[in-house]
Amino acid sequence: MLEILFLLLPIAAGYGWYMGRRSVRHKQKSQRKQMSRDYFTGLNFLLSNESDKAVDLFISMLDVDDDTIDTHLSLGSLFRKRGEVDRSIRIHQNLIARPSLTTEQRDIAMMELGKDYLAAGFYDRAEEIFINLVEQEDHSEEAEDQLIAIYQVTKEWQKALGIIKKLKRKRQQALKQLSAHLCCELAAEQTDKSQALSTYQRALKYDNLCCRALIAAAQVYVDIEEFQKAKECLQRIIDADIAFFPEALTIAKQTYQSTQDMQGYEELLRQALSQGGGASVAITLAQHLIEQGDCKEAEQLVLDGLYRHPTMKSFQHLMKMHLQQAEDGQAKESLTMLEKLVDQQIKFRPGYRCIECGFPSHRLYWHCPSCKNWGSIKRLRGLDGE
Ligand SMILES: [Zn+2]
Repeated sequence: MLEILFLLLPIAAGYGWYMGRRSVRHKQKSQRKQMSRDYFTGLNFLLSNESDKAVDLFISMLDVDDDTIDTHLSLGSLFRKRGEVDRSIRIHQNLIARPSLTTEQRDIAMMELGKDYLAAGFYDRAEEIFINLVEQEDHSEEAEDQLIAIYQVTKEWQKALGIIKKLKRKRQQALKQLSAHLCCELAAEQTDKSQALSTYQRALKYDNLCCRALIAAAQVYVDIEEFQKAKECLQRIIDADIAFFPEALTIAKQTYQSTQDMQGYEELLRQALSQGGGASVAITLAQHLIEQGDCKEAEQLVLDGLYRHPTMKSFQHLMKMHLQQAEDGQAKESLTMLEKLVDQQIKFRPGYRCIECGFPSHRLYWHCPSCKNWGSIKRLRGLDGE
């Protein structure tokens, strides 16, 4: 009898093990069921715009399972993208408060929280987080990018340049345009002209095609009466990006007038026009020819421009030229009225557009207010522009 009982022992142990496993499985299954039910409820809250209830539910589920961390990171990012930054902050703060997080998970959550703070405008808090993350090898590049973004918003140009200076050569090269514009911002704040000039030169060391630095440097050279240097800058603008040359037309006139080199001025304008300077350059050249007493050539120049690339600007200028020659009477009155209408139309339409995002503007912004790119806003081409 005792032997039979001994024989039954392994069966009993096996049964106990089986029942125990079944109960754990059952528990896990019911937990998973509960979780997926909660997730559906949470998603329903989200879809019915009851975000607060959804956040509460998702945060309460954080205690359930480590596997949900990725889901919470995605949810936090979703809330931030929807502009509900307070909710993404709550999610990420709760995530970071979990003692069971690994260092890697904590760093990822910190990165997200930093982005939340940046989006909410808490720049000091975001800066503090990213400065700490720069030390973590896996996150240093992203943290550096975020810090550069913060310093652009807070206009701390020197700090942004400081971060770029520490980057590897390849990344520095990729940020050369940005670096040049940061130098230009810095130079614009410097009241001492020679200091500003050396900062513009620093910008050109980063990016020798930076038209903004060339235009600003040309103006400083005119102010300190170094006209030859100003002429060199003007020439470099034509070669770097002709689209920005119209911005330097006033400086060009000042430079060549000061040296009484009107022949050089005409040559510069003709060169700019031949390289695609557009309607503004053609009109400036026509004005110069009129001042030199060559009205016929001036009119021919504007007419040729109109035939090749019709623009409202050239049309208006042609009308102005005709008005100066017209005798008083009905025809002159009609032409005056027409010129006013065209003038209103030109003033009403934006003359600039961002080549990256299409943002239209009436004036030149070096930093696009919409897409935050530097140097991407240029004069419009075509009928309404150049
Ligand atoms: Zn833009």
